[in-house]
Amino acid sequence: MANKSKFQAIRGTRDLLPPETALWNRVEQTAHEVFSTFGFGEIRPPIIEDAGLFARAIGDETDVVAKEMFNVQSSEPDIVIKTEDGIIAIEIKESLRTDSRQLESQLEHYRSLLERWRSDPSSIAKKETWMLRPEATASVCRAYIEHNMQQLPQPVKLYYMGPMFRRERPQKGRYRQFYQIGAEILGGPDAPAIDAELIEMLMSFFDKCGLQGTELSINSIGHAADNCRRGYVAKLREELIKVKDKLGADSQRRIETNPLRVLDSKLEHEQAIIATLPRIADHLCDECKAHYAAVKHELEQRGVIYRENWRLVRGLDYYMRTTFEITAQGLGSQNAVCGGGRYDGLVELLGGPPTKGIGFAIGEDRLILSLQESGKAPAAQGRDVYIAWMGEKAYATAIRAAKTLRKAGFRVELPPTELKFGKALERASKLGSRFALILGDNEVQSGEWTLKTLADGSQQKLTEQALLDYLKSL
Ligand code: AMP
Repeated sequence: MANKSKFQAIRGTRDLLPPETALWNRVEQTAHEVFSTFGFGEIRPPIIEDAGLFARAIGDETDVVAKEMFNVQSSEPDIVIKTEDGIIAIEIKESLRTDSRQLESQLEHYRSLLERWRSDPSSIAKKETWMLRPEATASVCRAYIEHNMQQLPQPVKLYYMGPMFRRERPQKGRYRQFYQIGAEILGGPDAPAIDAELIEMLMSFFDKCGLQGTELSINSIGHAADNCRRGYVAKLREELIKVKDKLGADSQRRIETNPLRVLDSKLEHEQAIIATLPRIADHLCDECKAHYAAVKHELEQRGVIYRENWRLVRGLDYYMRTTFEITAQGLGSQNAVCGGGRYDGLVELLGGPPTKGIGFAIGEDRLILSLQESGKAPAAQGRDVYIAWMGEKAYATAIRAAKTLRKAGFRVELPPTELKFGKALERASKLGSRFALILGDNEVQSGEWTLKTLADGSQQKLTEQALLDYLKSL
């Protein structure tokens, strides 16, 4: 029966446990290996950032920033200075109110703060808001600017992995703390080969992980100009207004706020209507059209199989041209394991120089789920050698044996207390050990150790060196 602890992981968060974590490590190791063969280096940005960064990058109006963020108050200010009708009031932090000595010692400090505030209010009245990152692209772009990476050979190719936080309604494959593995290419020329190679890398990674049933969808959403996407969006809005009454409430709202997002709709009754709407491919400007054609050609040259999906869009202005998504099997309705696209305006939006950018984010939780569904989960990690020691003298030898075997890379279990022989063997097999190394007085005296193969019960006597050689030869 499961114990009920006083505390449980917060809804939408969870513990990743062995043996599943071995699969996470394998996936992450594969990412390190594959991405480095494409010349990417790892970046590890912080998990908390200035809230303004995401408001800028993702937009105040989008669902993500409006509803789905975890704010972190940087600290409760010691004092808050309020001015109403010219009256200045100082509010003292609750915890300081109970300790008069501490309070007195702080008074001087408060007086000087007050002086400072009088001469420059913005110097102390500021209350920072931090945010747990909902994604990492904005952080990578911030880091690119902050570390002057535009001075490095371009483009700069970076990848990251780690937890992201969104206050979404939890369900299968959708968590509030989830993990992404992502990559970004910043700077460099306008070459379609950049888009194609990024996607090629992604598909090689999935292939190496053994992910089944992957489907790559691509699209081009042009760029924000009147003769390209803006013109298309105006046309789309016009057509949507004509069918407004037949649409659901969300789509009706989006006709005004973000008509492209109507194309994302999964509502059954809207599908037939959406199928009749104008398509962006027919409204791209010549440059974007040529770019899209070249990306497809480059993908074909690399043997990457894709499907075109004209409904694959992004709602934000700085997204442009290539967008893509990968789905995998065994995930139900949340079957997107990766989303990506080009975002040439983002670095500039964050205060940097005009810089091209493209990237993707893989949902690692979903990738793992899909691998598990197709039977790719590793079995519980057993032990190579369980050391069954008996007696003080044997214990010293056992410690030495464990050290030698572990140094050689074997998984060794050294029981912390002496166990009866039968009990020790029982433990050894429960832990999935392959061998039991039996060390008693006889073995210590003779220098010949007993190695028992648990699968068939056979035993052999070996010196320390012979034992090591034998195990290495397997
Ligand atoms: P996005 O950053 O929204 O483009 O998402 C990229 C990928 O991250 C998606 O395709 C999902 O695989 C994954 N993802 C996004 N949100 C969540 C979530 N709440 N829980 C688990 N995975 C997620």
